[in-house]
Amino acid sequence: SADITRLQALIRTIPDFPEPGIQFRDITALLADADGLTLALDAMAEGLAPGDVDAVVAVEARGFLLAGGLAHRLHCGVVPVRKPGKLPGPTLGVSYALEYGEDRLEMHQGALRPGARILVVDDLIATGGTALATGELVTRAGGHIVGFRFLIDLPELGGAAKLAARGWSPRALLS
Ligand code: IMP
Repeated sequence: SADITRLQALIRTIPDFPEPGIQFRDITALLADADGLTLALDAMAEGLAPGDVDAVVAVEARGFLLAGGLAHRLHCGVVPVRKPGKLPGPTLGVSYALEYGEDRLEMHQGALRPGARILVVDDLIATGGTALATGELVTRAGGHIVGFRFLIDLPELGGAAKLAARGWSPRALLS
């Protein structure tokens, strides 16, 4: 559609960032564009209404930039998932494998009410490592995942398929 073409035009690909061989999708121009950001958030919220979700769980750091607008549309709050050592209170953590080494994500203990209906948001899904770890955190925290919403899916890296295999219905605007 015209909207998707418009959003696509606001995303640029930077070769070899942050490392050689990586084609980095840069969404800063989309975020800076009033119509682009509105379009993106409206589309990410599609199919959901206020009352359907108890909290948006947002993944550091670019997920944070989308989460507030999405939560405002859905009339719910935002719960941050962060890199280790950033949250001040007691946390739950999940470690996950990267191509080289390991990473870890944390959420505040008690951040979710038991059975809370959760929408997870991030800017992009690639291998799915980040999203799967976030889903694991939400589940361990007692939340119930309603879905995952991304601006961009890189389907050849298989992340969305892994989420779907877990029954976690991912949706992305662009691929
Ligand atoms: P994954 O864990 O391999 O699915 O990578 C997804 C995570 O890495 C998300 O939190 C993204 O913000 C980040 N990421 C990976 N590749 C890109 C990119 O090309 N542009 C922006 N963020 C990216």
